[in-house]
Amino acid sequence: MTNVEFYIDQFPDYTFFGIEVPHRWYYGEVNKVNGKIVIYINVLQPEWQQIDTIVHEAGHALFNMYGDDKRWSMKTMLAEKQAEYVSNHFNI
Ligand SMILES: [Zn+2]
Repeated sequence: MTNVEFYIDQFPDYTFFGIEVPHRWYYGEVNKVNGKIVIYINVLQPEWQQIDTIVHEAGHALFNMYGDDKRWSMKTMLAEKQAEYVSNHFNI
């Protein structure tokens, strides 16, 4: 099992997809589809970054904190701050 797989295994309720997005600043995202959590991880990022993204996106899902489609709206920035806080305090 890789380190990335180990982290994915910590969140058995969520569906993870590895995607290849050749963009330096794209790490991944979380979507809620019909009540199911789907998390996309950019597998072109280094392993530590992928793990960081897994925990960050799971933080959004666990605490039901999502932004809207505007990158710099108050709602999005608040959701990002909260997810960042949660992922910094996860103990896996
Ligand atoms: Zn986020």
